Amino acid sequence: MSSTCFDRIAELVTNRRELGDGSPLGLRRDAAVVVEDGEVVWVGDAGAAPATDDHRDLTGRCVLPAFVDSHSHLVFGGERVGEFAARMSGRAYTAGGIRTTIAATRAAPVEELRRRAGLLLAEMRRQGTGVVEIKSGYGAEVATERRSLEVAGELTAETTYLGAHVMGPEFADDPAGYVTLVTGEMLAACAPLARWVDVFVEDGAFDGDQARAILRAGAERGLGARVHANQLGPGPGVQVACEVGAASADHCTHLDARDVAALADSGTVATLVPGAEFSTRSPVYADGRRLMAAGVTVALATDCNPGTSYTTSMPFVIALAVRECGLTPSEAVWAATAGSAAALRREDVGHLGLGAAAWLSVLDAPSHQYLAYRPGVPLARLLTAPEGVTARAPGVGGPGSASQVASR
Ligand SMILES: [Zn+2]
Repeated sequence: MSSTCFDRIAELVTNRRELGDGSPLGLRRDAAVVVEDGEVVWVGDAGAAPATDDHRDLTGRCVLPAFVDSHSHLVFGGERVGEFAARMSGRAYTAGGIRTTIAATRAAPVEELRRRAGLLLAEMRRQGTGVVEIKSGYGAEVATERRSLEVAGELTAETTYLGAHVMGPEFADDPAGYVTLVTGEMLAACAPLARWVDVFVEDGAFDGDQARAILRAGAERGLGARVHANQLGPGPGVQVACEVGAASADHCTHLDARDVAALADSGTVATLVPGAEFSTRSPVYADGRRLMAAGVTVALATDCNPGTSYTTSMPFVIALAVRECGLTPSEAVWAATAGSAAALRREDVGHLGLGAAAWLSVLDAPSHQYLAYRPGVPLARLLTAPEGVTARAPGVGGPGSASQVASR
């Protein structure tokens, strides 16, 4: 048993209306919070907390639920800085794109995959992120997909089987054969290691019917659904996600009125990943303002991957969501905490209500609005975590084109 009081907090973001000012962020000024045995057990006014084993003074700082990063691809071999530099130089990049990463991931020893993913997770933690979702998807064959999920499972409980990222290169002329593999042998090998199943629905990746078959097969093995939807152009991704009751439709960059209505009428969260638009110099960002106005639950995530969004920073994503997706600073912080917890259907994280898991972050700033106000400044860090982990490393083109799909 050990208890800690974080006291004299300038602004506490609880994400519980009743614990604060009645806004979605449930803000409390001059506050204190007590954590005991990995849970939040008391929230109240500064100086009024019950006696605890430890006491930390956070004068002048903002404390908030640790960010939840509900969409990442941390397990991969190789990097693609040359491709990025070429794209930013306006040169066509014709090398393998995602196929480069698939080849490097297949060739990488498991220790290397583990080391690299652990370093990326440590980066996330240093920037205030708690719970992270991690996908497979750079194997496109049974053994590497399974190996990727083994590594992911050492780092998080939120593991996602993404055998349907792109067609395996061996199946370029046999898409039906690849879907059979993804819904059969590969799923059987991977399902015991995964909580979720995901499909990249896009021209050049998987179509609506293939996605339905893959998500249905995953559901039969007990996996919850998530979808990469409407990233590069209009398509059926959001409709499929809402139809199957997916926890989240991710990207949501190219939506029509029907897509927005479907998200508003369903329990499916719209997860925006503006780091991808930034890193591909996309002329279009997801319209978060339109989604909020329609009453859709919006989440934010990094989409950390070596091809199109090589950032681990939720503060950066928050700043982008405000600047480019039309969210207010408060909406963006809610989306990066409570919203992304909803995208993982987690009720124990993303808020600081009583009984919440003790994932707390702190800002070297007096309010949450500084996250968007001071972009690129390292204000956020993890304050405490339920398992006592901190920022340590475990183990040390244009929209709509198939070539963009290949470069993910
Ligand atoms: Zn992704």
